[in-house]
Amino acid sequence: KRIITIEAVKEAVEAAHAHFREEKGGKNADYIPYLKNVPSDLFGISVCLADGRSVTVGDTDYRFGIESVSKVPTAILAMNQYSAKKVLSQIGADATGLPFNSIMAILLENDHPSTPLVNAGAISACSMIKPTGNAEAKWKAIVDFISGLCGSKVSVLDELYRSESETNFNNRSIAWLLKNYNRIYDDPDMSLDLYTRQCSLGITARQLAVMAATIANCGTNPVTWEEVFHPNLTPHIASLMATVGFYEHTGDWLFNTGLPAKTGVGGGIMAVIPGVMGLAAFAPPLDSAGNSVKAQKALEYISVRLGLNIFSPA
Ligand code: GLN
Repeated sequence: KRIITIEAVKEAVEAAHAHFREEKGGKNADYIPYLKNVPSDLFGISVCLADGRSVTVGDTDYRFGIESVSKVPTAILAMNQYSAKKVLSQIGADATGLPFNSIMAILLENDHPSTPLVNAGAISACSMIKPTGNAEAKWKAIVDFISGLCGSKVSVLDELYRSESETNFNNRSIAWLLKNYNRIYDDPDMSLDLYTRQCSLGITARQLAVMAATIANCGTNPVTWEEVFHPNLTPHIASLMATVGFYEHTGDWLFNTGLPAKTGVGGGIMAVIPGVMGLAAFAPPLDSAGNSVKAQKALEYISVRLGLNIFSPA
């Protein structure tokens, strides 16, 4: 990889923000009532280098719902508590090519949820988190882990949590279908509630970029220097992000950008360039697969401009 200077990052991030600020495509998620009412024109981009220096432009201090980006830290935590192999055998690591909320993810491969980065596998990952059987201690493990990755505390947006809990009927079915196939490793309702809570965490683009940089930096937070997870897990989580991070649009995304990244219906996207940097972009309006339109455009622009494609030899 060629050396990327902080000046070049700053130029690329500012240009991306200026280019796509007026982009009007997509619409806010509406199946979770809270998300429908988040101001649609919010737009922030934050990049954190693997040495901790960062660049932020726009609405990077607004706390939005982390949603499915939370599947990444919980997958890492499960691998860190057990092993990458154990998560591979209990959940899987395959692309589904399906929407995030698909029940087919469970039925595709020998009743395996396929990957911890879709709803079925994420609920299963929440069930694995230790200490099993203790909802509050499991929740503390998840929140402390995410806060460690971000280098600052994260907490639940209570109204979002309420809104999701009242409308998560599909996820409730997934939890019980997992139970039917012995692919949930703790109480199904408790595992579902942990998943719903983690999706309702408020996070800023600035925090998300530090999380991405900690993953890029092999588990050591480049801002606090805390060793948050085992260094050998970065290639595993980056490969999971690359294979399924944008659900049914993952191939198109990877084809255009070459960035392992993960989206959430709150409008956030987190991208990881191992050894180099973490990137985050946030804008609420989504495409048909539930991925932020503006955040995708901004990150694609930055990837091309800085030559970040991990499949490119130069
Ligand atoms: N909490 C949301 C859900 O389970 C997260 C989905 C997403 O961000 N893609 O439906």
